[in-house]
Order: sequence, then structure tokens, then C-alpha cells
Amino acid sequence: MFNIKTKKEMKIRMFILAVSMLLGIYAVQGAKTDKPFTIVIDAGHGGRDPGAMGKLVREKDINLAIALRLGARIEKGLPDVRVLYTRKTDIFLPLQDRANFVNENAADLFICIHTNAAENTSVHGVETFTLGLNKQESNLDVAMRENSVILLEDNYEANYQGFDPNSVESYIMFEFMQDQYIDKSLSFATLTQKAMSGKCKRNNRGVRQAAFWVLHKSACPSVLIEVGFISNQQEEKFLASDSGRDAMAGAIYDAVVEYKRDIDKKNGIAVAAPSKSLQTEKQVSSSSKNTGVVYKIQIAAVKKELSAKDPALKGLKNVKYYKEGGFFKYTYGEENTFSEIEQLRKSIRSKFPEAFVIAFKDGKKISVSEARAIEKK
Ligand SMILES: [Zn+2]
Repeated sequence: MFNIKTKKEMKIRMFILAVSMLLGIYAVQGAKTDKPFTIVIDAGHGGRDPGAMGKLVREKDINLAIALRLGARIEKGLPDVRVLYTRKTDIFLPLQDRANFVNENAADLFICIHTNAAENTSVHGVETFTLGLNKQESNLDVAMRENSVILLEDNYEANYQGFDPNSVESYIMFEFMQDQYIDKSLSFATLTQKAMSGKCKRNNRGVRQAAFWVLHKSACPSVLIEVGFISNQQEEKFLASDSGRDAMAGAIYDAVVEYKRDIDKKNGIAVAAPSKSLQTEKQVSSSSKNTGVVYKIQIAAVKKELSAKDPALKGLKNVKYYKEGGFFKYTYGEENTFSEIEQLRKSIRSKFPEAFVIAFKDGKKISVSEARAIEKK
């Protein structure tokens, strides 16, 4: 209980209360302005596709166990990060569906977890792959094995545009593609290898590149981690054990923490002070007209073009779309400042509660944090 002795003291207490309430409101709004940093964790294989077979365990079970442990650690340790799973149980999922899930949720990082296998049972260690576009560098054998699940899918000829995971020729298509996320993918892959070989003392087989369908179709920084060789007796034992799975999830978690910290630092999130005078807000707004930054509100992502009267658009006028990752992404509004687009987003919030802000610079999509950093310059 408070023990209030004087009127003056009461006034001071009321003042403190008012200020802390205002700060509280700011904190809630501040947290809502950006879409949360989203990580999709993908346990490779599942259901009728067991992946590589060991003597004690199947690949799909190792992958799922580590994926769930990793997700739980992120949820606990990084509560502002949104964690999504392609699967949380033993189900079969086509590769394309996994990539679609990443794109539908506008993920910021995609982590695929797999277990390796080799004819030579002495081969052991960990590898982290990014999408490889160069034929010389591509590890075709691994890519072919991990892509071959496509052949288990119904209707794969139609879904994968004639891509045959077992034909070398099919991989030529990757050589003509650009991967705009390669720098970030490489940096996360490097951190992951460092953590798995350091903390977990696994044999470091390095960061590698290969043409994985699931990475190629995902519109965000993406890696595929091979957590060890199921074909090696010791490594299989390690990956079949609770302690081994905990250790691997812990190492990948450490890499996530470090990666996220680097990104926040680059975006200036750590240094963004909550208290800002109105004067500075105004200066930011007026000087941001020439930055080339355009904010829009994304309201839907669908596979087919919608008619203007489509119920999904809920009668909203002046809706536009852009294409990304095989999707028509519908947007509303166009503003040069984040504060203006936020205002607009709030005005359609009742109809589109899931809508979120996206940003472009000179027509190229960038993250909202990047855009805001440019706006502040
Ligand atoms: Zn696999």
C-alpha cells in the first residue's frame, strides 16, 4: 500500500503514474509497428518419406526432434521472434508446400533440418548448405537425394515444371538464377557451422552450396543444415539421443541469436530510442520524400490473380499487386513515410487484421527495418 502524506506527494505520484502509462502505451504500439521477425523451421521429410535410414533411427525423426527443440528454445529465448513450423508431427509434406509456407508468412529466415548419409560409414560431421547456383560448386549428390522426395509426390510433373531431381540436366536451370538472399544465407550458415563445430564439437565439413528446390523457391535467407551422418555409427547414436538433439538445437539456437543481433544492429534497432520529440518526427517526414522508399500494406498473397470484386479484397478500392515467389501479393496504399503507412494500416485493420507493412526502395523490395533506417538518415 502507498502511504501518501501530502497533496504534493500525491501529485508527484499521479504524475509518475501518468508517465508510466504513456510509456506503456508506447511500448505496446512500438511492438506492433513492424511485422515480427519470422523464422520458419522445417523438419525435413516426414510421413511416407522417412529420409535416410539408420540402424537405430530414421532421418525424419531426428529432423523433427531437433526442429521442435530449436523452436522451443527460440520461443523461450527470443520472445519477440515469431516461430513457425512446416510440420510438428510425422506427416508427409511436398517441397513446394514448404516453400509456399515460407513465402505466405513472409518469413525472414528459413531453417531446414536434415540428416546426411554416405556409403562410406566413416564419413561424419556437419554441413550447412545455402542455395548453390554454380555448377562447379554444387554438391549434386546431396541435392539429388534431398530433392528426390519430389518423386513421391502426387502430380509432381505438373507441380515442378518438368524438373527431374535425378537428372543432371535439370540442375542447369539453377545456373541462370539469381539469389538475392545469398549474403544473409551465407552469414547464417557460417554462424551455424561455427556453433555446431565449436560448442557441440562436431566435425566441421563446412558451408557448402547445392541446388535444393526448397531453398530456391523460398523468398528469404535460407539454409539447409545436415546435422550429421546417420550412416556413421557414433554419429547416429549421438543424433538418436536426447542429449545429442538438445546439443544440436542449442548450437543452431546460438547461431540464430547471433544472426538476429547482427541484423538488429545493422537496422539500428538496438540504438532506436523510444523517446523522440515531435520536432525530430517532422524533420524525418519532410526529408524522406527523396529517399526512394515506398511503403505499402500487404493484404493478401494468392496463387491466382483476383478480380477487383473478389471477396478476398473485401471491397477495398485501388488495390494493386506485385509478383513474388509464385504469388500475387495484393497491396493497398503507397506512402513515403512509415508513420503515414501505419496510419493507413490502422484504418483498414478491422477488415484486414493480418495486413502488414512492406517496403520498396527504387522499386526493389526491402525489409521494413531497412526502409526505416534509410528514412531516418
Ligand atoms: Zn534429408
